[in-house]
Amino acid sequence: MDSNRPSIKVIPPGPKSKEIYEILRAYEYPAEYVTNYDLPLVMCEGSGFLLKDLDGNTYLDFTSGFAALAVGHSHPKLLDAAFSQMKMLQHTAQIPTEPRARLAKRLVEILPGNLKNNSKLVFAVGGSEAVEIALKSARVNKDRPVIISFFGGYHGRGGAGAMDVTSEAWFHKGLHPTRPGVVELPYAYCYRCYFGREYPECGLFCLEYIRRVLSDSKCGLRNVKKGVNHVAAIILEPAQGSSGYVIPPKEFWPGIRKICDECDILMIDDEVQMGWGRSGRMFCIENWDVVPDMIALGKGITGGMYPMGVTVGRRELIDKFEPNYHGVTYGGNPVGCAIALAMIELLHKEKLPEHAAELGKYFFKELKELESEHPLIGHVDGMGFMIGIELVKDRRTKEPASEEAMKIVKEAIKRGLLLTISGYYGNRINIVPPLIIQKEQVDVATEILSSAIHTVEREPH
Ligand code: PMP
Repeated sequence: MDSNRPSIKVIPPGPKSKEIYEILRAYEYPAEYVTNYDLPLVMCEGSGFLLKDLDGNTYLDFTSGFAALAVGHSHPKLLDAAFSQMKMLQHTAQIPTEPRARLAKRLVEILPGNLKNNSKLVFAVGGSEAVEIALKSARVNKDRPVIISFFGGYHGRGGAGAMDVTSEAWFHKGLHPTRPGVVELPYAYCYRCYFGREYPECGLFCLEYIRRVLSDSKCGLRNVKKGVNHVAAIILEPAQGSSGYVIPPKEFWPGIRKICDECDILMIDDEVQMGWGRSGRMFCIENWDVVPDMIALGKGITGGMYPMGVTVGRRELIDKFEPNYHGVTYGGNPVGCAIALAMIELLHKEKLPEHAAELGKYFFKELKELESEHPLIGHVDGMGFMIGIELVKDRRTKEPASEEAMKIVKEAIKRGLLLTISGYYGNRINIVPPLIIQKEQVDVATEILSSAIHTVEREPH
């Protein structure tokens, strides 16, 4: 791709894309590309922050393959690592390899707080599985059944355990039994507080609510006087990714850590989407100086080049995780490990988390300024390169503008900017660029987004 800018030659969807899309529709189940967009875009080439479709259109990719492409498409350093390892040795399953050992050591060296050099890990093939391992490990360690998760949380659908802690009734339709051993509580989604309060006057009532649930002797989860506790862990996304980058207030995670300590419950941090520098820190939870007991990793760890997940936890927790509890053929694959090692070095050498923090602030400010021009924008949330724009029909009633959100994304695509939609009501636009973008791409994306919103705002109602 010869330029850094998007270029639209045929208004998408073009004829070649449509043809291939029809094959998929005929032979694949209606996957998310159909249920979310039903827009026949078929991609054939990716380079850095650009994606090209079969009809010759080039887009700025601000979706990063659901946040997996931490350093964009086809990064030469990752390609080198992958090819060199592939030429040497591709797969052994249970038999140890050097990249596996080196990655295990390196990962433990870069963990936050007291997890650093004091942890062990379990290899997996994706984010859902990394979550499953953390849940199993928590239940085994505490010998208790219940996991607390949050409304709007997403922890994967790649297996029953991860699905159980994933919110949204639709995901569970027809899949019985639905969600055994899971209790779901409200997240700190301050723009739409479940308790109808305002931050900071609320005094973080959402934390108080969790504390009451865990301490009320009639609730069925814990009875301190009788020495009974059924809760093994709380699982959290440090900021809710698949709900459109809902960022909790600064007191929330320190408060949850305190509750976990008081109630002898493990804290599982799902960094599958937020980790690897996207938030401006290597691990998103570091933004609050909180150290969890276990972390689930995935997506960005191999930058979209090879499926991998990893669960890390304090040494004594993982030591209790016996080989009969888990095992997959591709876990710890040497090619994946070589890529992950290259990714860690790249993030450090090029200071990409710091870059995301700094340029992310500018991006946030630019998007926040759009509020004054566009009444559809109700709220802008975000940190680093994870920004969510919540759209509302009316700023006072906050009625979600879900159809408008979809129309805006389609208008943006026509102008060469790829975005995704999410949110509790499908009314948030997710902005998830790869960590390698520069100010020029931020400015182009802001301009396209503003023009797309403008077009939808001008439509007759
Ligand atoms: N946890 C979080 C926070 C996620 O965002 C996702 C994927 N969107 C997962 C877990 C599941 O990862 P995977 O799809 O790779 O199984």
